Parts: sequence; structure tokens; C-alpha cells
Amino acid sequence: MTQILNYIHGEFVPAQNNQTLDNYNPTTGEAYSTLPDSDAVDVVFAIQSAKKAFPKWSALSPQDRSTWLHKIADGIEKRFDEFAHAESVDQGKPLWLSKEMDIPRAILNFRFFAEEILKFEHKQIVPAQEGSTLSHVIEKQPIGVASLISPWNLPLYLLTWKIAPCLATGNTAVCKPSEVTPMTAYLLAQVLQEVGLPAGVCNMVFGTGNNVGSTLTSHPGVSLISFTGGTETGRKIAQSSADKFKRLSLEMGGKNAAIILEDADLTKAVPALIRAAFLNQGEICLCIERFFVHEKIYAEFLSEFIKATEKLKVGDPFEDDTFMGPLVSKAHLDKVTLAIERMKQDKAKILFGGTAEVSVTEKNKNGYFFNPTIVEDLSDCSEMQQEEIFGPVASFRSYKNLSEAVKWANTTPYGLCASIWTQDTDKAAKVASHLDVGTVWINCWMKRDLRMPFGGMKDSGLGREGGHYSFDFFTEMKTVCIQI
Ligand code: NDP
Repeated sequence: MTQILNYIHGEFVPAQNNQTLDNYNPTTGEAYSTLPDSDAVDVVFAIQSAKKAFPKWSALSPQDRSTWLHKIADGIEKRFDEFAHAESVDQGKPLWLSKEMDIPRAILNFRFFAEEILKFEHKQIVPAQEGSTLSHVIEKQPIGVASLISPWNLPLYLLTWKIAPCLATGNTAVCKPSEVTPMTAYLLAQVLQEVGLPAGVCNMVFGTGNNVGSTLTSHPGVSLISFTGGTETGRKIAQSSADKFKRLSLEMGGKNAAIILEDADLTKAVPALIRAAFLNQGEICLCIERFFVHEKIYAEFLSEFIKATEKLKVGDPFEDDTFMGPLVSKAHLDKVTLAIERMKQDKAKILFGGTAEVSVTEKNKNGYFFNPTIVEDLSDCSEMQQEEIFGPVASFRSYKNLSEAVKWANTTPYGLCASIWTQDTDKAAKVASHLDVGTVWINCWMKRDLRMPFGGMKDSGLGREGGHYSFDFFTEMKTVCIQI
């Protein structure tokens, strides 16, 4: 069994208490590695190390830090297959998806911010206004030690989305990957050591949210917190950090809607929305869980959607034709199963799937598989139309008027993203302006230009990440006023 270790001050170490947790392979249901069950002692050690590293790291030029980021990207690239394999074993996602999405994006996160930091205006000179004798310089400075806390659905992708801008701007980091999927973060720590990143610049502490996370968010040595995860955890983090006025970026849950207008091109909409519902087993914060379809095309759309879903193979993530692997954990499988039971109680009709009865090989019989599920006609106020399921469950409802669909789309506490399908892009733009979400995709889904601001409204988030928006989060502004 691989023994995952913490990476603190450039060294691999067990938790000081010597406790470990088991890490499970969701495809087989077997424990296949252990990770440190760290506590406050390890976290404080890591924070001290990051604090020690800060003066030198923050004094490097953006060019030097950019070079380091490229070295890390090179290090992941060299071990690409190992990373992709590890992500699929640990998370359950198909290997082709790890190779197509997760690992390339992790590499790109480092390369993208390595280039962007060279364009970032660290110092802006504002000349005196006419008639004034005051000129100004606005400086954007690194802040200190950042806590970077990431979830289990896109483990390396989301962790590196935080590490890269944090280090690029001159901060140092203590990372807490999800205890459910620690393996690629551990491999990344090996890369940091291999490339010789100075000790303390980026530490990795493994363990539970309760033991590790809470110290990471409340410790006075931490100046800023970047968190991606569930809304309830985000709320706890906001509370535990409020006392010290820590800077917070929260990327949280969603209950995203697609609105399909009567003139939508179904040959494009159906395949794209199948991915939107079921990619990564529906475990992407941007996945669409609610589909509002114009009544004139409702029957046709639903029938095409079911036909396409029937063709999706659920099974071993290492078989090339698998579209959906297992859910990430037994706890998550139980959560999705319970959601289906609640939907049934709310009189929803299960049109497809809704069960964990998936035919798999003997070796995978204890895996956490769940069928893609299609549900019809939930009222907009039922609990399951309001709460994020974060699994392969798509609910459908027909609408008469667009205003009705927009109202339903907005009727949740969340506001992460939405997708609109129509050939009338002017109309789509008007609909977009009425949706209370951070990102709207028109005739597409989950296309990302990393320069664009990304984040959620309402209970889906606080702040924006991406391009210079990430740099703004990771830097503090100082105004220097000069009498001339
Ligand atoms: P959680 O909120 O359970 O966990 C996220 C991270 O926070 C984990 O590392 C977790 O550790 C840690 N954590 C838990 N409790 C605390 C605490 N008290 N203090 C500090 N850290 C803590 O989310 P999941 O891992 O279950 O991920 C799924 C959620 O993430 C979904 O709601 C999804 O929508 C959201 N998400 C949002 C995205 C966005 O960009 N908006 C992108 C991807 C996912 P541990 O695992 O050890 O408990």
C-alpha cells in the first residue's frame, strides 16, 4: 500500500501523531493507500514553514517565479501517464478524461499563470491631475501565507488552479487537498521536491476538514484563504476566519439549469448536454442538474436525451469506452441514492436509471457505481430541485413561456452557471442578463478562457478567480502619494 506523507518544509513526513486514514479505490471499494490523519500540530508546522519562506519567495522577480511555475509544469508533464492513472484510480473518473481534461488542465494552470504574471501590472503610476501637485503609485504586493483548500471532484485541476496564481504573485502556501482524493496532490509534492522549489514555498498537509481545515482557516499566521467545495463548508470557513478579517475566495456548490428554446439545434444540444449532465459522473460543480425545455420540443428532446443516455457505458474507468466510472466514495453513493428516494417521495417520475445496479466484473463488484438518471417533472420548490445532488441525475420540466423558465432557473439559493440553447443569440443574450449566475454559456457548456472571471453568485461563491482576477485576490494594493 502506498503511504502518502505530508510535504512540509521540503520534506516528506508522517503526521506527528503517527495516525493515518485509509484511502479507497472507488472502482473496487478497497483501501489501497494511507494518508496522514494530520492535526493542528502539523498544520502549524506547515504555516511556520510557509512564513519562513515568504520573504525570499516574495522578493523574487515575476520572471523568476514564472520560471519556477514552468518547471513545475514540466515536472507534471514528464510524469503525465502516472498522474492520469493515479487520478482515475483515486477519483473513479475514466482514464481518457484524466488524460483529456484533468492533467492537461493542471499543467495549463501553471503555464497560464506563468505567462499572465509577466503581463500583470504590479506597479501603476498615476500622474498628477491638472492643477494638482500630487502624483500616485499603486503597488500590488504579495500578502503572505495562503490556505488553499480543494475538493475531491477535480483533485489536481482545482488544486493547481489555486497554487499557480498564489505562487506567481509571491505568496507561499499550505494546501489541504480533499482526504477522499489525496494521491495526485502527493505526486505534485514529489514534483515540487524534484524541481527543487525552495522549502516552505508550497506545503501539503493531508487529513480531515475538521482537524486540518479548521486550523488552516483560523490560524493567525494565515492571511488569505482560497476554498473550493460545498456551500456548508464554505459557510463554516467564513465563520471561522471572520474574526481575523482574512481575505476569502469561496467557490462553492451549484444547482445549474439549462434552458432549451423551441428553435434549439437538437443535434448539437443533446450531445453537449449529455456531457453537461453526466461528465465525470455528474461530479463537476458546473454540471447541469435541471433542464427546462420548451413544451413544443419537450417530447422530442427528452426522447433523444434518453436514447443518448442509454448508450453511455458505466463501468471500469480503465476501459476505453467507459463514459462514467464509479462515484467517488461510499458516502457519496449513499447521498445520491437518498436523493433519488426523496425525489420519488416528491412524486417525480424516474424515466431512466435511478439505481446502483450496474453490471460490472467480479473485481469491481464492491465499487460505487450508479446509473445515469433522468427524472421528470419536479416542482420548482421540491427539496431536490433546490439542493445540489452532485451526481449523475438530470431533472426535466417543460415550460410555456421563457419568463417562467428564467424564474425557475433562479429559484434556488445557488448561482453558479447556466446554459442556454437557441439559434436566436439576441434572445439568448437577453435571457442571460436575467439569470442570477456567475457564468452563462450560450449554445455550449464548460468552455473556459482562463482569462475570464470565474465564480458564483448567491450561495455559490464569493469573489472571482481566473486571469488577473486571481492576481487581484492574491495581492494587496498600496497607494503611495507623492507631493511633487
Ligand atoms: P467539501 O466542502 O466537503 O470539502 C472541500 C474541502 O474542504 C475538502 O478538502 C474538505 O476536507 C475541506 N473541509 C471540510 N471541512 C472543512 C472545514 N471545517 N474547514 C476547512 N476545510 C474543510 O466539498 P467536497 O469535497 O464534497 O466537494 C464537492 C463540493 O464542491 C460540491 O458542492 C461542489 O459543487 C463544490 N465545487 C465547487 C466548485 C466551484 O468552482 N464553484 C468546483 C468544484 C466543486 P475533507 O475532504 O477532508 O473533509
